[in-house]
Amino acid sequence: MKSVGRNDPCWCGSGVKYKKCHLNRSVQETANPWAAVEANRAAFQVKKCYAEDAGLGPCEGKIIKAHTVSRGPNLTKIARSGKVVRYRADPAELTKNGGRLTASEIGIGDASVFYGFCAGHDRELFSCIENEPFIGREDQCLAVAYRTLSREYYGKDAAGHLRETLREADKGKSIIEQLQLQHLLALMEQGNELAKKDLQHTYDRLTQAMVERRSDVLHSLVIEFGGVLPFMVAAAWSPFTDLFGKRLQDGYTDELLEQIFLASFVADGQSFICMSWIGKPNAPGQKLANQAREMPHERLGSIILQFVAMHAENIFYDPVWFEALGPAQLKRLDSLAAAGVDAMGSVPDPAGDPTLSFDLPAITRIFDAEKET
Ligand SMILES: [Zn+2]
Ligand SMILES: [Zn+2]
Repeated sequence: MKSVGRNDPCWCGSGVKYKKCHLNRSVQETANPWAAVEANRAAFQVKKCYAEDAGLGPCEGKIIKAHTVSRGPNLTKIARSGKVVRYRADPAELTKNGGRLTASEIGIGDASVFYGFCAGHDRELFSCIENEPFIGREDQCLAVAYRTLSREYYGKDAAGHLRETLREADKGKSIIEQLQLQHLLALMEQGNELAKKDLQHTYDRLTQAMVERRSDVLHSLVIEFGGVLPFMVAAAWSPFTDLFGKRLQDGYTDELLEQIFLASFVADGQSFICMSWIGKPNAPGQKLANQAREMPHERLGSIILQFVAMHAENIFYDPVWFEALGPAQLKRLDSLAAAGVDAMGSVPDPAGDPTLSFDLPAITRIFDAEKET
């Protein structure tokens, strides 16, 4: 640090002079970084319609609080007294390693909400999943994928400001700790930027498909269960590994990653899981779908659950089912939820354990999403 002059730009990259930034940082009063993270989250709950100027017609009405997991007909099915269980980083328990995740209850009114669409677009674009029972149609799979990706993309916008928010979280820490934190923040920012680039590409394709009503841009596999699943999920991510933890695509920075979309629905006392991907040769989603088809039905449900528990942040569990889990199952969910939290967005890859059963309803049918008629 001796080579940095008081009036030179600070080494941390803040753009501020050293004397106004990291000089004497180690003796400054400790800040509460997690209060700052909360403030960041609130500040970037920007209400805006993602469908505005996207070729999807004019906005209408206010920006509404929308659920990514479908409303009433779905979350209420797994709720107890209006609450569901989800994993969350507990600020009080966060440690240097990024902390640990704890499962706690959340009211369904607050679960998976985001402010991403005006009333008009929300009604128009998602009517086929909110007002019609899910029957595994292509347009329904496209609508849920578009909404899920809107939320992911929006989340990356907020995460993009995290570096600024946490830049002063090393007050009162040693020089080594300052260097470590600033380095970590730089990596996080880089990871977030890359993830955003991947998402942007796919997001443009999905938006275009919505505009042109070309739901066959997405290919979807639908898994139908004989009863209601004890979890609800709506997630999009770039899979690096398959259902068994084998490599699917490399995360090289110069190539765009392919995403998959995974969402669950409840209709007429039955759950459906819709797994979608953009159709192209060797799409990771296609490989995952092939694996799902080839697997014995009685194992597939538990494997899929482990797969989404690891990758999806936006997953909610039935409290009654959750509390009744055996120790092995609970431990597994704990570790899968923790595996998904990684500063770089990459994930350690424990394969799905085919011997662990989560006591899910039996699979009754697996089929390709059907055309709109
Ligand atoms: Zn600095
Ligand atoms: Zn709108």
